[in-house]
Amino acid sequence: MKLKFLGTADSAGIPVHNCTCNVCNKYRKNNIQNLATSAYLEIEDKIILFDAGVENISTIFDGKEIKAIFLTHFHADHCLGLLKLRHSKDTIKCFHPNDKDGFSDLFKHTHSILYNKLDEFESVCIDNISFTAIPLVHSKKCNGYLIEYKNYTIAYLTDTSKVSEKVVKFLKSKKLDYCFIDACYDERKEVGNHLNYFQASKILNSLNVKNGYLMHISHTTQNYIEKNKVSLKYKYLKNEHIFVFD
Ligand SMILES: [Zn+2]
Ligand SMILES: [Zn+2]
Ligand SMILES: [Zn+2]
Repeated sequence: MKLKFLGTADSAGIPVHNCTCNVCNKYRKNNIQNLATSAYLEIEDKIILFDAGVENISTIFDGKEIKAIFLTHFHADHCLGLLKLRHSKDTIKCFHPNDKDGFSDLFKHTHSILYNKLDEFESVCIDNISFTAIPLVHSKKCNGYLIEYKNYTIAYLTDTSKVSEKVVKFLKSKKLDYCFIDACYDERKEVGNHLNYFQASKILNSLNVKNGYLMHISHTTQNYIEKNKVSLKYKYLKNEHIFVFD
């Protein structure tokens, strides 16, 4: 099983449209981009998505079977791609937090996507992989996910402004091998809908994770780190990444 990231940026992506900051200019010059945070599991030729914020997701996975989608929440940068996937000729299960509003008219057009809400700490099993909804704190109802496969435990925690005691206790009991966490902000911002990199690192420490990674980075945060040579214990994911779990 492989965990692949399509992007690890915040909703603006990098480069930001017409932004001439150092980071955006560097990305533009090297012809690279970091898309909104979105990942998927690849098991042989089957796909399980975590979020679908990349707009052309239906093209990226054309010809592949999407077994399920685990949606963290209904903000556009995490679900925009569903607007196209809802016309799929397959029927795709989408697990999501209990948010009655959803996004746009997604809940009205359910011919291709079967929506299943997952309550806090509720689990489902797909192809011997267990997925548990982890309640996060955000401006919209939001689920992180705990993935348990063979001997691996992996937590995917975005978007969040804090992690409750209850969640820390639960995740610690799972002895995480990998944890990917929202760290959108730099240290100047301590309150908002996301964590900054020091707050996120503190949570990774408290979870005793073997491998911790920061994600959902903004161009402002990346600029601040590079300009001030900020030293971080955990690495940011930038652009595309692949993790292999055999
Ligand atoms: Zn910029
Ligand atoms: Zn969000
Ligand atoms: Zn987001």
